[in-house]
Amino acid sequence: MDTDLAQALTIPERVVRFLEMSKPAAFCDDCIATALVLRRAQISTVTSTLGLCRGYLRNAECCTACGRNGKFVTRVQTEREIAHGGGTQGHAR
Ligand SMILES: [Zn+2]
Repeated sequence: MDTDLAQALTIPERVVRFLEMSKPAAFCDDCIATALVLRRAQISTVTSTLGLCRGYLRNAECCTACGRNGKFVTRVQTEREIAHGGGTQGHAR
């Protein structure tokens, strides 16, 4: 992760990249911040937005790294979940 390429990425790009590389593991904002050597506030800005995007889940997982669960935990949805219209929208029915 600490390559020149990683340094050139924006913070949202680094968060997305970290989650994609770690999937389907879920991480809380604190652990993402630690892994990317960023401040938690920088991470939560990104993950709170990702939680609204198709392909990401927030709030419903247990952090893989520290075991904490709750609304600050984010992960990438699996292809199956996306295909089933999973996530929090639930407008399929
Ligand atoms: Zn954690």
